[in-house]
Order: sequence, then structure tokens, then C-alpha cells
Amino acid sequence: MVHTKCLIIGSGPAGYTAAIYAARAEMKPLLYEGLQPGGQLTTTNEVENFPGYPQGVTGPEMMIQLREQALRFETDVRSGFISKVDFSRTIHTCWAEDGTEIHAETVIIATGASAKYLGLPSEQHYLQTGGGVSACAVCDGFFYRGQETVIVGAGDSACEEAHYLSKLCTKVTMLVRKDDFRASKIMADRVKKTANIEILYNTETVEVLGDGQVVTGALVKNNVTNEERTIPCTGFFVAIGHTPNTAIFKDFIHLDETGYIQYAQPGTSKTNVPGVFVSGDAADKTYRQAITAAGTGCMAALDAERYLASLH
Ligand code: NDP
Repeated sequence: MVHTKCLIIGSGPAGYTAAIYAARAEMKPLLYEGLQPGGQLTTTNEVENFPGYPQGVTGPEMMIQLREQALRFETDVRSGFISKVDFSRTIHTCWAEDGTEIHAETVIIATGASAKYLGLPSEQHYLQTGGGVSACAVCDGFFYRGQETVIVGAGDSACEEAHYLSKLCTKVTMLVRKDDFRASKIMADRVKKTANIEILYNTETVEVLGDGQVVTGALVKNNVTNEERTIPCTGFFVAIGHTPNTAIFKDFIHLDETGYIQYAQPGTSKTNVPGVFVSGDAADKTYRQAITAAGTGCMAALDAERYLASLH
């Protein structure tokens, strides 16, 4: 059994920023890294939009630096994940998957969200190589400026990202698996009116094509006619939604209909449970950026500190 003033669950920019602030406030935070140490940024190649890195930094390198900064102030960083929580009492109980029972005066949830992928072996291959598959146009679109890209999806995210890419790329081909968009009319209309976006309806991806290192195209199929064709592209973007990693909290924390944690008080990191705070993508389906996650991690640590001060 372990007692802590502050348990941080998750090790992306939100979790580590919360740890840096909590540790410097002498809360001696305990941080569990979770299933994907470093979070979503570890699947990102180059990060050029995080302020303070004029030459850019790779996602994994940035996460190593954030981890080092949290360790410098004596955060207790542990590998493993939290598998169960009980937020029904003033002291919150959480269990790690190895059976460790943690009693926490405050909890900062920074479990993030996971981008959904198609699950094709070729897609996963070029995701791992960093050779042209991405789930974030705002993060990676810049690398494909002046080139042709493909984007999969028909929701608001796909429309927003296709429009973003259209300003950078010579051509964007949007693959919509049904005969219409799921996105709001205004978002879909904007895409339809953009000259360099071609929309292919009833179209699914068969394979992401490449030379083994980088993407060179996409083999797609019309699911009505079964006709196949190859679309040349160097970037293959997937925008088919995200899954917030919040399932273990659902019995205690208010979630919206898609599983994102709801803030109890706008402008704070408070959840409906006193002493439990949320930061990063677990509560954010709009911005989803490393810098916004870091910002809310800071907010959560400050809110946790103030909560503890109010008790004593
Ligand atoms: P959504 O769940 O709304 O949409 C996912 C899209 O991906 C759907 O069009 C779906 O197709 C498609 N899709 C799912 N699986 C596959 C697959 N295997 N192959 C091909 N296509 C697939 O996710 P979003 O991320 O777009 O949006 C999430 C929420 O965030 C929504 O509530 C949205 O309104 C909101 N949002 C709002 C924004 C804004 O207002 N600025 C910006 C971004 C998001 P199908 O339609 O056929 O099921």
C-alpha cells in the first residue's frame, strides 16, 4: 500500500506537466506511466509547433525531456498502469495492475485519448516507420506541403483536417466510406467547395502503398462497384475519431456520450469528484494538441494544490 498527496495517471504532456508543477509545490507526486509511456506523441515523428523548440524536436525525444524534468523535481515515476479506481471516499483508492493499492489525497487524470486507425497492416507499418501515415493533420500536415495527400473519414475532424491540408497540399483526396458525410453541414459544405479537395464517396482503403520506408499511394475500392484504383500520395491521414481512455473512471466521473470527461466547472480542471482533476485529451475532443494538454496539466496541478490547501 502506498499513500500519496497526488497521484497522476498518464505520461503524456499533460501528465508530465502536472508532475512538474505538483513536484515543485512539494506534493511529491506519484505518476503511473500507463500502457503507452509518453502517450500519443511517441507515435509522432517531428514536433515543430511546441513553443521553445525553434529547430523542432521528435515526439519521443520531447517526451524523454519532459520525463527528465519531472524526475528532476523528484516525481516518483512508475511503469505500469492503473486498472481500477474507487473515488467514493475522501481519500481516493486506485489499484495498479501489479496489485499495488494507492491511497491518494488528490488524483490527476491524464490518460489521454487514442486515435482510431483502420487496422490495415500496411497502415500500421508506415505509422511505425514515420513514413507518411498520421492521425493528426495539424501536427504533421506541414511535412506534406506542396505534395498530394489522402485523408480517410467523414466526420467534423476529417473535414477540419482536410481543409487544413488543402491549404498546404496541392491536392487532398478524401475517402468517405458511405454516400454522405457524417459531419455537420457547414463543415461538409466547406470541404465540398474547396477546389483542391476531391471527395470519393463509397470508397474504402484496401492498402497503403509505399517503398517499405515511405508512403507513395493508396489502393482504394469503391464498395458499390468494387472498382479499385490507386491514388498517388505521400501522406495518408486517418481522421476516423478518437477513443478517450476513461473507461476505468466511468462509475465515478461524469463522462459525455462519447466517453470524454466532463469538467464540473468551466475554466478549471475540476471533475464532479472533489480532489479528482482532469487534464489533456481525456477531456478534450476539440484541440488535442501537446501544448493544450500541457496547459491543462499545469491547471490540474494548481487546482490540486489549492484543494489540499483548502483542507488544512
Ligand atoms: P466522428 O465519430 O464524428 O466521425 C468519424 C468518421 O470516421 C465518420 O464519418 C465515420 O464514418 C468514419 N469512420 C469510422 N471508422 C471508419 C473506417 N474504419 N473507415 C472509414 N471511415 C471510418 O469523429 P470525429 O473525430 O470527426 O468527431 C468527434 C466529435 O468531435 C464529434 O462530436 C464532432 O462533432 C466533434 N468535433 C467538432 C469539431 C468542430 O466543431 N470544430 C471539430 C472536430 C470534431 P461513417 O460516417 O460512415 O460512420
